[in-house]
Amino acid sequence: MTHDHQLTPSEAWQRMREGNERFIDGSPEHPHQDVERRSILANQQTPFAALFGCADSRLAAEIIFDAGLGDLFVIRNAGQVIDTTTLASLEYAVSALEVPLIVVLAHDSCGAVQAAFDADVNKQVPDGFYVRDLITRIHPAIVESKREGSGTVEDVAERHLRQTTRELVSHSELISDAVDAGRVAVIGVNYQLVDGAVHEVVTVGDIGLNAAASAGGVDPVPAARAVAESDTAIHPTA
Ligand SMILES: [Zn+2]
Repeated sequence: MTHDHQLTPSEAWQRMREGNERFIDGSPEHPHQDVERRSILANQQTPFAALFGCADSRLAAEIIFDAGLGDLFVIRNAGQVIDTTTLASLEYAVSALEVPLIVVLAHDSCGAVQAAFDADVNKQVPDGFYVRDLITRIHPAIVESKREGSGTVEDVAERHLRQTTRELVSHSELISDAVDAGRVAVIGVNYQLVDGAVHEVVTVGDIGLNAAASAGGVDPVPAARAVAESDTAIHPTA
C-alpha cells in the first residue's frame, strides 16, 4: 500500500497534539466523520497513527484527539498491558498500514493500575482469572517503584507507562527495526481526566522533540534501540 501523504513521526504527533488541544479548548472540528469520508474509506485505510491505550470509557481515542474515521488504528485494553495480540496488532499497523507513530495512552486514576496496586500492597485480590492475569503485567512497575521510586499508585502508573512503551519496542523485532530506520516513533503519554490534556512521558525513536527532551531532563533508556526519552509536559499549564 502506498501513501500519498505519508507523515513523519513528528508530523503525526503534531497532528495528534493539535487535535488534543482542540478537545481541551472545547473547540473540536470532528473531522472525517461524514458520509463522504466513510465512502472514501470503504476499500482502504491509511491511518496516520496507531494508538494503544487503556480501555477506560473516558479515553475514547478519536474524541480526545479530535480525529475521525480512518485516522487512528486503535488497540485498547484495561491498563494498556502488552500481550501477544497487542503486539501483533501494532506490528500489523507498522508493517501493513505503515503508520509512522505509535501512541501509548495511559491516564490518571486508572482502575487497572489501582487493582494491581491493591493486590500487591493491600492484598486485595480481584475476582476473575483473567483479571488477575492482567494485573500481573503491571506488577513489574510496582516492583520498580518500591525499589527506585515512591511506591505510590501514581508512581506505579507512570513507571508502567514507561515500561510498556519501551517493551513494545524491545519485544517486537519488526517495530524496533522500524524505529531504528526512523520510519516509526513511539510516544507514551498520560491523559488527565479533569482537563483532557495529554502529557508526554516517554518517547522512543525520533519524534522531533529532542531539544525539548534535553531541556526537560533525559532519563537513561535501558532498551538499546531506544533513541530518545523525555519528561517534557506537552500541555504544562493546560
Ligand atoms: Zn485505565
